[in-house]
Amino acid sequence: MGAVTTTSHVAFRSAAPSRSDARTQSDHPDASDPDGPPPPPQVALSPAERAVVSSAEHALLDERRLLSAEELAALAALPDGAVMALASLAHQVRLAWCGPEVEIEGILSAKTGGCPEDCHFCAQSSRFDTPVKATPFLDPADVLAAARETAALGASEFCIVLAVRGPDERTIQRILDLVPLIRDETGLNVAVSAGILSEDQARRLAEGGVHRYNHNVETARSHFPSIVSTHSWDERAETCRLVKAHGMELCCGALINVGESDAQRVELLTQLQELEPTEVPVNFLNPRPGTPLGDQPILGAWEAIRWIALFRLALPSVILRYAGGREVTLRDLQAIGMTAGINALIVGNYLTTLGRSAEEDLQMLDDLRMPIGALTAAL
Ligand code: SF4
Repeated sequence: MGAVTTTSHVAFRSAAPSRSDARTQSDHPDASDPDGPPPPPQVALSPAERAVVSSAEHALLDERRLLSAEELAALAALPDGAVMALASLAHQVRLAWCGPEVEIEGILSAKTGGCPEDCHFCAQSSRFDTPVKATPFLDPADVLAAARETAALGASEFCIVLAVRGPDERTIQRILDLVPLIRDETGLNVAVSAGILSEDQARRLAEGGVHRYNHNVETARSHFPSIVSTHSWDERAETCRLVKAHGMELCCGALINVGESDAQRVELLTQLQELEPTEVPVNFLNPRPGTPLGDQPILGAWEAIRWIALFRLALPSVILRYAGGREVTLRDLQAIGMTAGINALIVGNYLTTLGRSAEEDLQMLDDLRMPIGALTAAL
């Protein structure tokens, strides 16, 4: 991948990597510094600030073109009083580019823990002393049972997730055995997340009926070495390219609040634009005890809404999915995220943390009058 240029002439509200972390100290009820800065002021936008939003609206809704790095940086630099304007525009963009449906997915950790990689946020790494212990590959009957439960919720997608650097031959065979079983019995599209792939593995998974392959780049290329040392961002991006080259849909997610700066978040957005995923799951760091990022403050909810909106504005046509960390990060603002660009949910539990109940999420969609449907064909 060529180097991606991010803006050098748009000033972010603060250049420090932890601008939003500092805000988090005051936002989060667990914040340890009660004398920290007060919550952000909500002030009306200036004409110049409103013009930045209007320009993005024109580009996305009238010209129907992607925003540049400079335009995204200008939106990211707007003050807190602009967050609802960003969210409102993101919702319109989502409706115009994707329609009203919300896609529901269940995920199952079919092989948990014991991963040799050192992703600093991950409780499944064998390099950190975390409460997550390694388990073998689940029995096919258990995987099928989870798929049936997922289908009963009205979901269209079921993702089998494995904590591995990449799949070995035995793992590939197990996946290839499971995919038709699940698809034929439940009618669900089957997605897989099994790490870095070789060209041959990507081809075999595609031929075996894997509908979508998840491989997150997590963060900006420039920040990746700060959070992972055992493989590179480019290795991840190469697997993303192989997934698309062999005809699977690419699901390529982000993890926000791992020490990256605002400029690096914009960098990530432009890198995702280049990778052209079908789906982008947005994860917020839920700090896991024992990991190097275990003491990182949780991102402020208002800041999270800003970045959900920016993801939609940068990636107007993708399936933008709420993924891990939304409950602890957004708390009472989860429904606002649904009107700030999100159009897909992971329901139930995540890989190593509990999500809120599927019933609560389905009620939220009902309250928002958002229909459930598969988005694959629509986009
Ligand atoms: S994020 Fe994936 S590759 Fe990294 S340690 Fe966790 S399971 Fe392994």
